[in-house]
Amino acid sequence: MGNTIIRQPHGKVKRASPRKENLTGKVFGRLAVVREATDKEYLTIHWVCQCKCGNITIARGASLKNGCVKSCGCLRSELVADGNTTHGMTNHPLYVVWKGMRQRCSNPNHVSYGYYGGKGVRVCEEWDSDFMLFYDWCMKEGYVSGLTVDRVDGECDYTPGNCKMSTRMEQSHNSSNVKLDELSVRKIKASIKKGARNSELGRKYGVTPEAISCIRCEKTWGWVT
Ligand SMILES: [Zn+2]
Repeated sequence: MGNTIIRQPHGKVKRASPRKENLTGKVFGRLAVVREATDKEYLTIHWVCQCKCGNITIARGASLKNGCVKSCGCLRSELVADGNTTHGMTNHPLYVVWKGMRQRCSNPNHVSYGYYGGKGVRVCEEWDSDFMLFYDWCMKEGYVSGLTVDRVDGECDYTPGNCKMSTRMEQSHNSSNVKLDELSVRKIKASIKKGARNSELGRKYGVTPEAISCIRCEKTWGWVT
């Protein structure tokens, strides 16, 4: 279902807001959508689903569509049981990445929870329940030491389809993206020309020195002059 384009009499094109997609009757993994969940105020659209195992569960629409949620949780329990064999990988750097990702999304006491779990961001069931499934994906994507996993769309979940390998520098750019706009980047570039240092500009604009460095070498915001 795409956006409808309405052509106004005076020739201007207005994009109508996309109509809410009705997922009723659709099947995602083990879940069949029964109806929209309206019982409670949700920030985003949620659906009541019947799982193959018989349980009723409520899932975020976006998470159903991007494959993050495929069951009531029974899939996870099975994978955890399977994955409980010792993998001997707890010292691997990706294990730290995996733990951090799950903590941000599920532990309300985590310092960044508000930007992840608190916003409805989840880790897909496969990755959440089995480190080795996450590890295998990272290896297939060309993991080398120093890389980490970053989401492509920051509003979306940690799923194979929405993640990529990135350097920490790219990630710090992404997380500081929110704070910078075109005008401040233009000012930063002018200051760079005058010889300002990354650290002092970072402090001034509330971003990391790495983010400034990325602007300096045109790795980011290259189109702003
Ligand atoms: Zn189930």
